[in-house]
Amino acid sequence: MQLILLGAPGAGKGTQAAHLVQYYHIPHISTGDILRSNIANHTCLGEKVKTYTDAGQLVPDEIILEIVEDRLNKIDCDPGFLFDGFPRTLLQAQGLKVLLEKLGKKLNWVINIQVDTELVIKRLINRRSCPRCSRIYNIILSPSHQPGICDDCQIPLEHRKDDQLEVIMNRLMVYEEQTKPLIEYYAKFDQLFTVRGASDSYAIFEIIKKQVEKG
Ligand code: AMP
Repeated sequence: MQLILLGAPGAGKGTQAAHLVQYYHIPHISTGDILRSNIANHTCLGEKVKTYTDAGQLVPDEIILEIVEDRLNKIDCDPGFLFDGFPRTLLQAQGLKVLLEKLGKKLNWVINIQVDTELVIKRLINRRSCPRCSRIYNIILSPSHQPGICDDCQIPLEHRKDDQLEVIMNRLMVYEEQTKPLIEYYAKFDQLFTVRGASDSYAIFEIIKKQVEKG
């Protein structure tokens, strides 16, 4: 099963990704998580990309495509994968197409999660995430049992630097300009499925599952 999750920041891609990878037993490939882990570990890549992520700007396509190629060549991607936050530009989508052709793989579905901007802003401001397992909480809608502590890892949750209002507005602008055109791109290949992302996450997951299983 080869899937892509598309949608604005805060649309709920991470939450649906967690449901989908558990159900289909495929790896969750979040380019954002890979970048954050490199930044936290002060790797050479982390140092290179930090200024972009802090400002809510996109990391250059060639860096992202190199990360993705390395990741797709790992053995756990043999049964499939789920991309979350990739591709984000037309160049990345075209690069992925070439990579998949090289590997003899085909995308099954591109799932586009659509949410109103107002809700997205509210979600991102209240979002907290676990730096270890990436589990996502919302301090109002889905808080952890112990405030500020991950239920699974028992370590402090973080409020991402790029989830501050000014950076959020920038990320939304970048999404409109550079990522939204991918909806039309994948619609042309008849691989796109759009779901409204405002309701309960399990209800949304059921809708996605039904569509994915149609084949
Ligand atoms: P995310 O966790 O997906 O919201 O990504 C956080 C940040 O990482 C983004 O605002 C970008 O700076 C960077 N990033 C993640 N994925 C990509 C990508 N596919 N292309 C370019 N930059 C990315």
